[in-house]
Amino acid sequence: MIMNKRFLFSCLLIGSIAANLCGQDKPRVYILATGGTIAGIGASETSSGYIAGVVSVDKIIQSAPEILQLAQIKGEQVVNIPSQDMSEADWLIIAKRVNQLLSQADVTGIVITHGTDTMEETAFFLNLVVKSDKPVVLAGAMRPSTEISADGPMNVYEAVAVAASPLSIGKGVMIVMDDKILSADDAMKTMTTALETFKCPNFGFLGYLWDSKPIFTRNSLVKHTIHSEFDVADVDILPKVAIVYGYAGIDSLFVATAVRKGVNGIVYAGVGNGNPNTANLNALADAVKHGIPVVRSARTPFGPTTQHDEVDDDKYRFSASWFKTPEKSRILLMLALMKTKDYKEIQRMFVEY
Ligand code: ASP
Repeated sequence: MIMNKRFLFSCLLIGSIAANLCGQDKPRVYILATGGTIAGIGASETSSGYIAGVVSVDKIIQSAPEILQLAQIKGEQVVNIPSQDMSEADWLIIAKRVNQLLSQADVTGIVITHGTDTMEETAFFLNLVVKSDKPVVLAGAMRPSTEISADGPMNVYEAVAVAASPLSIGKGVMIVMDDKILSADDAMKTMTTALETFKCPNFGFLGYLWDSKPIFTRNSLVKHTIHSEFDVADVDILPKVAIVYGYAGIDSLFVATAVRKGVNGIVYAGVGNGNPNTANLNALADAVKHGIPVVRSARTPFGPTTQHDEVDDDKYRFSASWFKTPEKSRILLMLALMKTKDYKEIQRMFVEY
């Protein structure tokens, strides 16, 4: 009996050493690749022209072999496109796969490689529909994989470090770029070509990476992931929401066209604090009368679009977007419309998320 116990202990010890050597005790991180500049190929190491969304997930993993020291890695190619071509159908595919993977006990976290142009939109969509508090981290690159000092490998490495860390649990969907950790609700691409393009303009970074370790300095306190009321498990098509971009002298043609084309909701990116001019105030009021909810947002990049400043939102039954940019307002309104058309209920969601 004693011999048997010793034998069993030895087997367990050998098993655990073997597992260690094979990395089986390491966190398990999936890399879902979707394309973007991180998967881009240029004409030369120095030219700025390139084609995004070419390189496969295996090559992205090979470009940062150090990630294998951090986690057991599995790669999947979801799509391979520049993110300006990302669609709502792609968001649904990604969200469903993320939820499927995170429901598995042996999956620690997920990294999604993605073009930077619409990364904040995919991140925000996932922030609202992922049903897990495990880490989901988006990463991309500003330089294609073939350029000198391409930033993709380091961004992937740091994204895996965040996805594999227990410190990242419950933080919501994050973006990792350029040594910073950003929350999906506030992240914004702010410069067309610079490496340090992503900022959290309203609330600041969630944290940063030092010595391959995430250091968190704040939490995102808006509702997300497991606290979100939105669920796309059985959804194949999202409501259609148009954004109309305001400017001096804009006529009501664009709002009227959106109404005529049968959109389900309108986000108006107004000037200043989300102000429409008189022509569009009337057109938007008309849209509401046609049963089309309207959210006032702002083309002004930073700060909240607040209720009842120059526009009497209760009179017109508009909702105001608070800290959501027009493009994030569109996403939240699309999900809100799956539940309600009531402007006060939509307003509640814009305050809470
Ligand atoms: N247009 C590219 C994309 O979003 C830009 C990038 O990835 O940085 O796919």
